[in-house]
Amino acid sequence: MAEETFTRWIEQVYTTEEHEIDCKQLQNFLPAFVDAEVNGERLPHTAVIQTHLQHCPDCQEIYEGLNLVIRAEAELPSLTMD
Ligand SMILES: [Zn+2]
Repeated sequence: MAEETFTRWIEQVYTTEEHEIDCKQLQNFLPAFVDAEVNGERLPHTAVIQTHLQHCPDCQEIYEGLNLVIRAEAELPSLTMD
């Protein structure tokens, strides 16, 4: 997702939901969130997402799965280039 599109999308989410996002929204957002995290970037709404994850085992499970996959890909770039 392009950064600008992403920013606009998350702004829309936070216009409708002041403090919380629902699971569907969060799960749409998770790949970009984990990707940023792996790359050492901090997104504007990291704290809100982390709070949701702490209270939601379902989303936490998806987050952890994505985390493993994205980290594995990030750590093994040379193997796919062969
Ligand atoms: Zn959730």
